[in-house]
Amino acid sequence: MTDYHIHTILSDGIDTHEACLRMASEYNVSEIGFSDHICLNYPEWAVREEDLTYMKEKVTKIKNTTDLPFKVKFGAEIDYLSDKKDEIQTIIQKLKLDYVIGSVHFINGWNFDTEPFNYETKNIDHLYNEYFRLIQEAAISGLFDIIGHADVIKKFNYKPSFKLDKLYKQTAKIFSKADIAIELNTSGLFKPCNEYYPSTEFLKMCFKEKVPVTLGSDAHQAVDIARNFKKAINLLKVTGYKQIAVFEKRKRTLIPI
Ligand SMILES: [Zn+2]
Ligand SMILES: [Zn+2]
Repeated sequence: MTDYHIHTILSDGIDTHEACLRMASEYNVSEIGFSDHICLNYPEWAVREEDLTYMKEKVTKIKNTTDLPFKVKFGAEIDYLSDKKDEIQTIIQKLKLDYVIGSVHFINGWNFDTEPFNYETKNIDHLYNEYFRLIQEAAISGLFDIIGHADVIKKFNYKPSFKLDKLYKQTAKIFSKADIAIELNTSGLFKPCNEYYPSTEFLKMCFKEKVPVTLGSDAHQAVDIARNFKKAINLLKVTGYKQIAVFEKRKRTLIPI
């Protein structure tokens, strides 16, 4: 069991790295990865620019601690911003990350996953099309190893008027061609949409297109690490996955589940 999507107090989590390590020790995890938010717009939920060096030193120090019963990886969840690709690349190189989750949290400057009340005034069909266009672009950009919560646009349970199967298929094909992984993110189960990210239908398409998968809780508190992972692993197996992806210095390998 691995959890590659964990936030700490350095971004918008409420617990320290140490608290996360203590909690992870109580679960049967073989690997965890810290993946605090990096966003070059620097909203209040992301690591502050002046803390990026500290972030690197902190996780590097933990990685060098030998008495942990599991491996620790240095990751980041980085916002895909199409006008800041070069700066994103520079930060990734500077931090020497083990893996990079690329996420989309903004559409035309609107932080759509933090502001449920604004959906009432939006064209939902247009939002879905825009969102999927952006994650496809993020995959093709080559900046990232994993696409984060691949259909998070459904978070507040606003649904488009059209069926999503064509967009799922098209996107899964693009992920496959870009050789990027997705994550099975369990946090959506606890949001209004009440589904995994991605949905089981989208996950099936990704499996069909041989897109590798990681596991992530998107924990913002230590107690949520590996939340619902037994069921998630079961879903992966039912879908056909026999392996999940792990990363070291951005090199991907697969381990059995
Ligand atoms: Zn996110
Ligand atoms: Zn996250």
